[in-house]
Amino acid sequence: MSKIIYDYQTCNDDNFMDRIRIKGLKVFAHHGVYDFETEKGQNFYVNADLFCDTRKAGKSDELSDSTNYGEVCEFIKVWMEKNTYKLLEAVAENLSKAILLKYDLIKHVRLEICKPEAPIQIPFENVSVEVKRGWTTVFLSAGSNMGDSDNILKGAIDMLNKDSDMKDVKASKFIVTKPYGGVDQDDFVNCAIRLDTLLDPETLLDRLHEIESFYKRERKIHWGPRTLDLDIVFFGKSVYESDRLIIPHVDMQNRAFVLEPLAELAPNFRHPILNKSVEELLNSL
Ligand code: ATP
Ligand code: CA
Ligand code: CA
Repeated sequence: MSKIIYDYQTCNDDNFMDRIRIKGLKVFAHHGVYDFETEKGQNFYVNADLFCDTRKAGKSDELSDSTNYGEVCEFIKVWMEKNTYKLLEAVAENLSKAILLKYDLIKHVRLEICKPEAPIQIPFENVSVEVKRGWTTVFLSAGSNMGDSDNILKGAIDMLNKDSDMKDVKASKFIVTKPYGGVDQDDFVNCAIRLDTLLDPETLLDRLHEIESFYKRERKIHWGPRTLDLDIVFFGKSVYESDRLIIPHVDMQNRAFVLEPLAELAPNFRHPILNKSVEELLNSL
């Protein structure tokens, strides 16, 4: 059998964060595309970087201020044994999520699943899939001017709260605003929402569209009346652009109905391009 090297990439994160590192955790499990792999099983090795702030535990010297790596190892082992996936990609994706949901102090996880006995006919050292996943703080703008707007907004916040890919959902107070964009229509109820998500921006947008659809959102008139509108204002400090999504929201700096509730939740949060805080943007309207 070939020698297995579990060398780990050096950290190249711009914002260095403390980490607890697990290297070469050996687990016998049943992941694989072929029947004989899921039937007989084989050895897997897991490398994990648990990004978390270790400062508090560093000062107190108390385990309760940190994440118990022994427990995490046991959790990974049991999880790897009891689940079966065809692809290492799916193992990495789902296990990273399970770790992030289970351990509150872990903000990001870098996970490498190694399969040194993979069915490859050529001699090889190791094959692995590595992912980095974590929580991102997101700010949304929500609005409604059709139906029972207060209850629709409350319902949308509740749906976000119940979504396992979101946590720490917090909404601003609701405000009543005049319509924006020149269409003659009823006043809006608006609020801002802050949450942490495990999703990437595109999947978050899909999730928001699902909530809008649940409330029978229709797109008939641009900037026209709607039961529910959920926009992504900030996605962490990300600057992102695709055919269907621009982050930060392109027009947020011109909208009091976005900035005013947002200033309640995050007055000092800086726009990553305009380099002004939410409060400064609001004051310069
Ligand atoms: P506005 O975006 O100017 O507030 P709107 O909310 O009324 O207008 P919608 O009809 O709800 O517009 O959305 C049109 C499309 O805008 C969405 O389907 C989505 O693909 C795209 N979009 C681009 N950037 C964003 C963003 N940051 N948040 C939400 N949707 C966005
Ligand atoms: Ca909008
Ligand atoms: Ca929208």
